Amino acid sequence: MRSRFARVAMSSSPTPMAVLDHGRGALVWDVDGAEYLDFLAGIAVNALGHAHPAVVEAVSTQAARAVHVSNYFTTPQAIAFAERLVRVTGMGESGRVYVANSGAEANEAAIKLARRTGRPRILAFESGFHGRTMGSLALTGKAALREPFEPLVPGVEHLPTELDALKAAMGPDVAAVILEPIKGEAGVVPLPPGFLAAARELTTAHGALLILDEIQTGAGRTGDWFAFQHAGELPEGVLPDAIALAKGIGGGVPIGALVTTGAASELFTLGQHGSTFGGNPLATGVADAVLAEIERADLVANAARRGEQLRSGILALGSDLSGDLIREVRGRGLLLGIEVAEPIAPAIVGHALQRGLIVNATGPTTVRLAPPLIIGDAEIDRFLTVFAASLEAARP
Ligand SMILES: *Cc1c(COP(=O)(O)O)cnc(C)c1O
Repeated sequence: MRSRFARVAMSSSPTPMAVLDHGRGALVWDVDGAEYLDFLAGIAVNALGHAHPAVVEAVSTQAARAVHVSNYFTTPQAIAFAERLVRVTGMGESGRVYVANSGAEANEAAIKLARRTGRPRILAFESGFHGRTMGSLALTGKAALREPFEPLVPGVEHLPTELDALKAAMGPDVAAVILEPIKGEAGVVPLPPGFLAAARELTTAHGALLILDEIQTGAGRTGDWFAFQHAGELPEGVLPDAIALAKGIGGGVPIGALVTTGAASELFTLGQHGSTFGGNPLATGVADAVLAEIERADLVANAARRGEQLRSGILALGSDLSGDLIREVRGRGLLLGIEVAEPIAPAIVGHALQRGLIVNATGPTTVRLAPPLIIGDAEIDRFLTVFAASLEAARP
């Protein structure tokens, strides 16, 4: 199977870790029947795990009714999804939703929105990740990803994630500041304390947009509906101008969204943006069902609770057999980065896979966990056992 993949897949494709067949909850099986505990969840996408009844039901119901209608029309599913998104983001009466098909496309919409201010500069941050399309790649703060494709969309500057740098860069020609509340691809790196509130103050003072990329952190993953909503991130009642979403909101069905509020909701005029697939009833019907299930089962609170349980379990491994290897556990809720003292994160991932556990290395010293939001005691116990063994096996 792997050689067949290699013969047909584009040369940019990574070597697959396994050839997967099906899953259920936090478990997934490969084509040879090997079972894995999935603590990556398709990179923070499968919020409800695999084959969740709510997703199965929504996909089948909608497939039997209408998959696509074009945006000359709308559907009850698209309306309900947008209403729910405005409600859970707290973007208020002026909250507006553009539905895209991926995270990169949500950020493309954000870039076009920023251009509508008439100002030329967009401020982004070093090591941030915003996607692979030409616009979202221009925002991405990793030079190695950008450079082979330059020239990219002009006007983007990448700052160190420091308040002084942001202060110095702000001015009347800044259209927008875009940032991730926790940098996921960079290794689950939170913003410095107070940074988000300060960025909000500065952008407001200079009449620039504050755009949050919550593509990885959104939909309950960090133990609040959205990472900016955690106490102490922004003052009560203060909002970003726009939020880019994708990944977890669709539970595995491709979908992205840009949610705006206030004056930012008025920047596009009729016909200035759109997408053929965007907002179709299959994607929005499933995404609405996923968000409804997150609400019904209180998975936001579960993410917060299970995240703390995981963090203390991992740190307890630290004081135990694998002690000297674990430096810190970063992140919030069920988006965690385990920093190890040696460049063995890829080896840990390999040993974990052999032992039936899927995790991911964002760099040489960071293992990222993004399990489905449905996990409980059994999954956490199993993870800790296998992870401890994988750490020991990878010990240099
Ligand atoms: C994954 C991700 C993206 C890109 O999303 P795609 O759906 O892969 O285009 C953008 N921003 C962040 C923060 C992400 O984690």
